[in-house]
Amino acid sequence: MNHAERTSNQEPIVEFRGVWKRFGALEVLKDINLAVGRGEVVVIIGPSGAGKSTLCRTINRLEIIDEGSILVDGKPQPVEGKELYKFRAGIGMVFQSFNLFSHKSILDNVTLAPRKILGQDKARARDNAYRLLDMVGIRSKADAMPAQLSGGQRQRAAIARALAMDPKVILFDEPTSALDPESTQEVLATMQQLAGQGTTMIVVTHEMSFARSCADRVVFMADGAIIETAGPEAFFTEPESERARSFLASVR
Ligand code: ADP
Ligand code: MG
Repeated sequence: MNHAERTSNQEPIVEFRGVWKRFGALEVLKDINLAVGRGEVVVIIGPSGAGKSTLCRTINRLEIIDEGSILVDGKPQPVEGKELYKFRAGIGMVFQSFNLFSHKSILDNVTLAPRKILGQDKARARDNAYRLLDMVGIRSKADAMPAQLSGGQRQRAAIARALAMDPKVILFDEPTSALDPESTQEVLATMQQLAGQGTTMIVVTHEMSFARSCADRVVFMADGAIIETAGPEAFFTEPESERARSFLASVR
């Protein structure tokens, strides 16, 4: 399935409409308009300070926007309370680090939210966790503690934990930036597998090979704005903006 087939005739899963975010006088998001379709993989790239992390964090309302609106699965974000808590539980997040509860086993990390928030019974949550740990290649680590895992294994556990909530979308914010090359490849392979399974993903990364091979669309951000959006082939072979050209030259 290509991007057009995936996203035609259906509501976007995440939609930014004229979104602005400021920290004091600093405009961090400037009129962001972006729709991410079901099953789509959108890779966000751009220089440090561009607003990529802030953009991710506005989706589950970890940052509150100043203007515009963000719809998730066609609905406005809940403002507070139990509704907001449940809403956040439906959006997976994988960060650069600090993803896991360090004092809980890998299995407990994966089963905790499904049991507490989705009300799954122990057996069902455990069976699902084993299935997901198997999928990301770390089933044998189920009883280990996070500190006993490599960085790549920890990030794959974090991905399994996100998947256990059956999220509408998973946000990845530089998930491999803190990893060694081998771990980076393990995590990118897992992400590639998810992309192939039709998972809706928004991925902030500096891994251009991942963007090139897995993105349905590349979004290039700089100075709080989306400078250009294109298919990966077009973006990497002939970017339209001077900003994107110089950025690509700096990371190659
Ligand atoms: P990126 O992820 O692209 O590197 P960020 O979204 O982290 O960019 O940051 C965008 C800009 O917003 C930066 O100038 C950063 O310093 C600023 N910023 C981010 N978070 C805060 C905050 N909580 N308070 C003030 N400024 C912030
Ligand atoms: Mg960032």
